[in-house]
Amino acid sequence: MPAKGMHRRPKSQRITRAAALASAGGAALALPLLGATGAHAAPAASTTYTVKAGDTLAKIATAQHVDGGWKKLYEANKSAIGSDAAVIKPGMKLTLDGAAASGSTATTASATNTTGYEKPVDGAIGTPYHQNGAMWSSGYHTGTDFVVPTGTAIKAVGAGTVVSAGLDGAYGNEVVIQHADGKYSQYAHMSSLGVSAGQHVTAGQQIGLSGATGNVTGPHLHFEIRTSPSYGSDLDPLAYLREHGVQV
Ligand SMILES: [Zn+2]
Repeated sequence: MPAKGMHRRPKSQRITRAAALASAGGAALALPLLGATGAHAAPAASTTYTVKAGDTLAKIATAQHVDGGWKKLYEANKSAIGSDAAVIKPGMKLTLDGAAASGSTATTASATNTTGYEKPVDGAIGTPYHQNGAMWSSGYHTGTDFVVPTGTAIKAVGAGTVVSAGLDGAYGNEVVIQHADGKYSQYAHMSSLGVSAGQHVTAGQQIGLSGATGNVTGPHLHFEIRTSPSYGSDLDPLAYLREHGVQV
């Protein structure tokens, strides 16, 4: 027994030392390998764009002729921009290379997730967009109504920044959100507001509860998509949602 014990100790020491050497060697080998892979993956020439005040990803994508538009631009620069595509800061450097390259496949799936859009509320469509009527100051309905009882969760249709949240005349309690593509979504007649101006929201995030505040005949969500934060710059909300893959 003592003899065996004597033999065991040096053996285990030798194994420990060998393992330490192996891992040190492994680490030394791994670093140059990573470096080489990085060098091959990097584009030959890199085109960067410096963000100016007032820029949106959509604006830059159009001006710089980025294939795939702002979504590709966002995907190629997600590590710099972060999870909120609506927030780009002046001075930020964006690469146009990855965005312009056609056939980038690996990033497509995550692009769908991070820039995904959702319905603003679960409810039936009421008064449609562009219905004519004297009760609207523009002569037609500037949004789409979703018929839902007071207290139903209202969700941001896409990631963005809250531009305003508060009372706005006939709209009652209203939230306006700016999205990465430069468009605005508006949610009106809410019974309570769950967000405030300047706040970043994600797609599907609850922004308040539906209600019947403002000029209404009953509780519903009045939902608009606009090209500016102001009344009168409306687009077809359902067409916009469908363009973003929402079944509505
Ligand atoms: Zn309406």
